[in-house]
Amino acid sequence: MSRGNDLASLDRRHVWHPFTQEKTTPSPIPVVAAEGATLHGADGRKYLDLISSWWVTIHGHTHPAIVRAIADQAARLEQVIFAGFTHEPAVRLASRLAARLPGGLSRVFFSDNGSTAVEVALKMACQYWLNRGQRRSRFLAFEGGYHGDTVGAMSAGRTSGFFDAFETMLFHVDMLPYPATWMGDGEVEDKEAAVLTALNRYLDRNGPDCAGVIIEPLVQGASGMRMCRPEFLRGLAAKLKQSGIPLIFDEVMTGFGRTGALFACHKAGVAPDIICLSKGLTGGFMPLSVTVCREEIYQAFLGDGFDQAFAHGHSFTANPLGCAAALASLELFEKEKTLARVVAIERIHRGRVLELMSHPRVHRGRIHGSIAAVNIRDGKEEYASETSQRLKAFFLEKGLLIRPLGNVIYLLPPYCITEAELHRAWNVIEEGLTLVT
Ligand SMILES: *Cc1c(COP(=O)(O)O)cnc(C)c1O
Repeated sequence: MSRGNDLASLDRRHVWHPFTQEKTTPSPIPVVAAEGATLHGADGRKYLDLISSWWVTIHGHTHPAIVRAIADQAARLEQVIFAGFTHEPAVRLASRLAARLPGGLSRVFFSDNGSTAVEVALKMACQYWLNRGQRRSRFLAFEGGYHGDTVGAMSAGRTSGFFDAFETMLFHVDMLPYPATWMGDGEVEDKEAAVLTALNRYLDRNGPDCAGVIIEPLVQGASGMRMCRPEFLRGLAAKLKQSGIPLIFDEVMTGFGRTGALFACHKAGVAPDIICLSKGLTGGFMPLSVTVCREEIYQAFLGDGFDQAFAHGHSFTANPLGCAAALASLELFEKEKTLARVVAIERIHRGRVLELMSHPRVHRGRIHGSIAAVNIRDGKEEYASETSQRLKAFFLEKGLLIRPLGNVIYLLPPYCITEAELHRAWNVIEEGLTLVT
């Protein structure tokens, strides 16, 4: 008890937390251990982690196979410069990812978080054209998309609503509407057709100046788990194929089973030209990311001078501990039949969301794999709206880590969650609706 209190007060004195108004926020909860889907607070309380600790935990906390892989790797080789040197975990991971990704995505560039994976993708697309003798200055993204907090990623995610303070730092990115849909949406086909028509117009006018198109496939995470259909992504990819403009899939959140397939691009039946992966890559244990591109893009960087090379790298590029964790995590997908677990989660989500939709305050239920979301009707949509703060506190009091995004309540659990745990979460959400006024 007192250990937790000491920590909390030291924390208040010296630490600055992400996406937090430090003046008004309640004291952060010290966590001392975790296993499976459960976090253990310093005060002895338990919290069911229903957002996978910000969407990273896949198989469960402290899964012993990944713990062992990291410990073994740390005892052999913890880190080495990745320019001019290489190592087995990175090489094996790159080849395994290439084997699992759709056709042609075969060249793996490592960095260490989702934002940098996106920066790498944007810079790659930009220089790809330059190396082929064309200076292209435009990027196209989708309204509500979120791609991370570094400047390029913020520019592509400008409309997610988080970056007004940095407006002057951002570069221009063109935006198309995102055809968000939900259960029983009768207008989805019209919305998709309208976006594809707008895309045609855009390509006619700006296609020859466009370096790349970036999208979160199937689910826009941070702007409220907004979902689209595979059909839309197939239409988008088909149009871009004709124009030769690289299609970038930001699968930082949707990767590694989240939507029911290993990658959302599998579920959509689309092979992008570049894909960004992070979050679940290491099972949620280590900061690591990859940007994987088609061989043809890589080939454009080969030349006799350094000018054509990709001048990008990070201190911890392809960190061996992260790579070892990622290899162990990929192995678990087979050993534990992880995707079958996601199917079971999706089945429970579907039943419970359908039930919840009869509540007058609930609408727009939607599900892709392990992700389920509903909107609460209270007229306010802000990220830190009063209702969402009240609900968050209520859920914590009940021992559940659930963080509504504005008026959106969503669950995104680790795949080890039990049926009973998941039902308990939905029961508490139902109870919480009485707080919505
Ligand atoms: C979280 C996220 C990012 C940023 O990843 P970080 O590791 O937080 O930098 C980028 N894109 C998407 C889709 C994300 O969900």
